Amino acid sequence: MGETERQGKRGSWGNFILILIGIVMLAVISVGIVVVPKYGKLFKEYRKYSSELKESRSELAEAEKENKKLLADRDALQALDGDVQSMQAETFKYAAELEAAVKNGSSSKKICYITLDDGPYYRGKKFLDIFNKYDVKATFFLTTANGDTLPDKGDETASSMYNEYLKYGHTIGNHTYSHNYSAGGVYSSADSFMKSIRKQDKFTEKATGGYKPVIVRFPGGSGTAGSVLGDITEDLKKEGDGWIDWTVDSSDSWGTDNTSPKIIMKQIKEAAKEQKIMVILFHEWSENSEKAMPQVIEYLDKQGYIFLPLFYDSVMVEK
Ligand SMILES: [Zn+2]
Repeated sequence: MGETERQGKRGSWGNFILILIGIVMLAVISVGIVVVPKYGKLFKEYRKYSSELKESRSELAEAEKENKKLLADRDALQALDGDVQSMQAETFKYAAELEAAVKNGSSSKKICYITLDDGPYYRGKKFLDIFNKYDVKATFFLTTANGDTLPDKGDETASSMYNEYLKYGHTIGNHTYSHNYSAGGVYSSADSFMKSIRKQDKFTEKATGGYKPVIVRFPGGSGTAGSVLGDITEDLKKEGDGWIDWTVDSSDSWGTDNTSPKIIMKQIKEAAKEQKIMVILFHEWSENSEKAMPQVIEYLDKQGYIFLPLFYDSVMVEK
């Protein structure tokens, strides 16, 4: 093979390689232009999905853990519910013994039953805070006169409050469903009164998951019932319900000009002079009572009063 031939062959190989490089470069460029962005997008999507999947997987595991915890909590709560009921029964047994001792003078202690009518109100939470601070138990006589709403806070239901009262060991009493004591209302007959009581019982049982109030407070007090009072109390007895008025009127419902925290304190100081067991009437909507409550508790505590929630067997509950 001559020199020129060899050079010619080398030249065509060179051209071939150049063309090949050109083709490869074109391929690379088109891959760069078309394929890479396409797969790049796919990769991105895939990465997003896989991290989402990972996230939802761990969320799922978290939810399963939460679910197990909730089930365990439910079991513990059910057990606790039984404990609370038997503890409450035990407490009320001691309370009844204490009442007897206070009455016959063998105990130097005194007893105060704080009662709040007409709730639930949002203000009830403020009262609960005060009672928690002083470790005081009270009684809430509830009605559904305002439907399932809180008159002083529109975005919360009345029924959401019921368990709040129970949670801290307070007693829930029945203040009738309608609280309507004008003509044609609950005092038009024993039957219409009892209907309102039963309806309120049902509402309470639904809101609390089974709590049945056993103490009734008449709207306006039992005196307001007039001629049907006897028939009503007969019916209440038959149904196993007790009822109670009050021994001290805090004055909080006497109208703006006739009540104030000062007047409330005056009422209570006056009553504390004579009453070894007192039942004070307050209203859950009263700002004056909310303001007076810490002083009321501190004063009565100094006088030797113990604060108890009302219970069916209390000497103060008629039956
Ligand atoms: Zn009332």
